Amino acid sequence: MSAAINKTTSSKLWKFHGGVHPPFHKDDSNQTPITFAGIPDQLVLPLQQHIGIEAEATVQVGDKVSKGQIIASASNNGLSANIHAPTSGKISAIEERPLPHISSLSGLCIVIDTDSKDDWGKCKLESYTDYENTESDKLLERIQQAGIVGLGGATFPTAVKLAGSQTIITLIINGAECEPYITCDDRLMRDESSKIITGIRILQKMLKPEICLIGIEDNKPEAIKALQLACQDDGGINNINVVAIPTLYPSGGEKQLIEILTGHEVPSGGLPLDIGLIGLNVGTVYSIYQAIIEGEPLLSRIVTVTGNGINKPQNFEVLIGTSFNYLAEQAGGYTKMADHLIMGGPMMGFALEDDQAPVVKATNCALITSTTVLSESNSEYADQPTLPCIRCGKCMDVCPVKLLPQQMYWHIRAKDFEKALDHNINDCIDCGCCSYVCPSHIPLVDYFRFAKNEVRDQKIAQHKSDLSRDRHEFLLFRKERDKRERDEKRAAHKAALQKKKAEASKNGETTKDNNKDTSKADAIKAAMARAKAKKEEREKEVNSKNEI
Ligand code: SF4
Ligand code: SF4
Repeated sequence: MSAAINKTTSSKLWKFHGGVHPPFHKDDSNQTPITFAGIPDQLVLPLQQHIGIEAEATVQVGDKVSKGQIIASASNNGLSANIHAPTSGKISAIEERPLPHISSLSGLCIVIDTDSKDDWGKCKLESYTDYENTESDKLLERIQQAGIVGLGGATFPTAVKLAGSQTIITLIINGAECEPYITCDDRLMRDESSKIITGIRILQKMLKPEICLIGIEDNKPEAIKALQLACQDDGGINNINVVAIPTLYPSGGEKQLIEILTGHEVPSGGLPLDIGLIGLNVGTVYSIYQAIIEGEPLLSRIVTVTGNGINKPQNFEVLIGTSFNYLAEQAGGYTKMADHLIMGGPMMGFALEDDQAPVVKATNCALITSTTVLSESNSEYADQPTLPCIRCGKCMDVCPVKLLPQQMYWHIRAKDFEKALDHNINDCIDCGCCSYVCPSHIPLVDYFRFAKNEVRDQKIAQHKSDLSRDRHEFLLFRKERDKRERDEKRAAHKAALQKKKAEASKNGETTKDNNKDTSKADAIKAAMARAKAKKEEREKEVNSKNEI
C-alpha cells in the first residue's frame, strides 16, 4: 500500500483535470417524490447482474417462490452476488432472454409469473436495529446475503469491497450524480435522507473511518440540505461532512470525486483502498440500511424515467426484473419523439434495441428521447459525418484521467493495442468527454471501449492458451514420471526376486544336506534295531532248549 492519506476536512476542495458542461436536464424528472412502479405480471431476472461470475439458479420451473427468497445464489467460484425474488409468484421459465447490455446479447434469466400477493412467506430477514452492538462480521454477512452490489453503475459486490477495507481512513459517499438527465440519487437523498445517514452510521461502525465525506454537486441544493438536516437530527455533523462540490461532468467518477474532496489521486491501475479510502454510492448505502434495519435484501432500486420521448418523466422504485416497456407505461407512455431508449445517461449509457429487456441492479435511468436532443450530448447520434482528426488537442484538455485520446485513437485505428495500453487505455473511464468536444465528431469513446474489450479478450485467449500449454506440459511430465516410477518398481521387483531366488537356492542345499544326515541316522537306527531283534530271538531259542 502506498502512503495512506491524512485525515481530510471539507474546508478545501480540489479540481480534477478536464471535464465538460453538457446540458444537464435534471429538472425534467426531479420535481416529484419517488413512487412505487407497481408489480408487473412478469419479472425477468438475469443471473448476471454484477461484476464477476453469474449466480447459480437454486429454483426450478414450476416452483412457487416467496418475496425475498434466494432464487440464484452467489457462485462459490469467485466474485458473485445472490439474486432474490422481488415478489411472490411462480417460476415459469429459466431460459435465454435479451439482456440490457451494450453487447445486445441474450443471457440466462429466471422468469417469475407474479401472483400479486407480494407475500414474504418466511423470507424476511431478522432486523439488526441495534447494529451498534452487533458484530461487524454479522453485518457483513447480512450485506452479502442481501445481494447488494454497487448501485452507482459498477455493480461490484459490496460485501467483497467492505471485507477488503479494514484499514480505511476516509469514507466517501458519492451523491454527485453528474451524468445529465439522471436524478435517482438526487430524489433518494431528498426523500430518504435519514435512512441514508443511518446506512452511513452502519458503515462507520463496520469500517471505523476517521471521517466521512458526502460529495454532492451544487446543482442539487435540496439534497444537500436534506442530508445536512438528517445529520443534525442524528446528533450532529461531527464526523459526517456533507460537501457541496461544483457541477462539472464527470465529478461523480469515483476517482474524480476522491480528488475533488481530498486532493489525492488514486494511482494508475490502483484502487482507492491503496490510499486509505473507500467510496460508496448513496443508493448502495440506502440498500445497506434496508438489509440491516429492515431485513430486506436488494429487491428493487430507484430508476429515473425521463426524456422528451416519455409523457411523465419521474423517479420510480422499480422491482428488479421489471421490463422497460412496463416502466414507460407507468410514466404515461411514449411520445412521438421516442426515437431512442437508452439505459443510463446520454454520455455513458447505451441504446437498448428491445424495451422488453428488464431493469437490473445496474439500471439507474431509462432515457427515452429524440435523436435531436440526444445528439446535444452524444455525437454518436448527431447527423454529421465523421471527419479526419485535426490534432486540435481538445480531447486531451477535457480528459479527466489526463490521457491522450487522439494518440490512443491513432494506435487503435492501426490495431496496435499494445501502444494503446502503453498510453494507459485501461484507465479510461468511458466518460465520453473526448467525444463530446471533438470538432471532427469522432466517436472516440467507442474506439476505446472496443480496444479495451479486444485487449481483455486477447488476455482471456492468452490465459486459456497458457493454461492449455501448462496442462499439456504437465501431461507430458506426468507420463514421464509414471514411466520412471513403473521402471523403478519393475527394477526393484526384479532385484527382490533375484535376492529371493538366491536365498531360496542357498536354503535348498542346506535342506539336501540335512536330508542326507537324517537318512544315515535312520539306517544306523534300523540296523541296530535289526541286530537287537536277532539277539532277542537267539536268546529266546537258547532259553527254550534249556527248558526242554
Ligand atoms: S478532439 Fe478530435 S480532432 Fe481534436 S485532436 Fe482530439 S480526436 Fe483529433
Ligand atoms: S472517455 Fe476515456 S479518454 Fe475520453 S475523456 Fe473520458 S477518460 Fe478520457
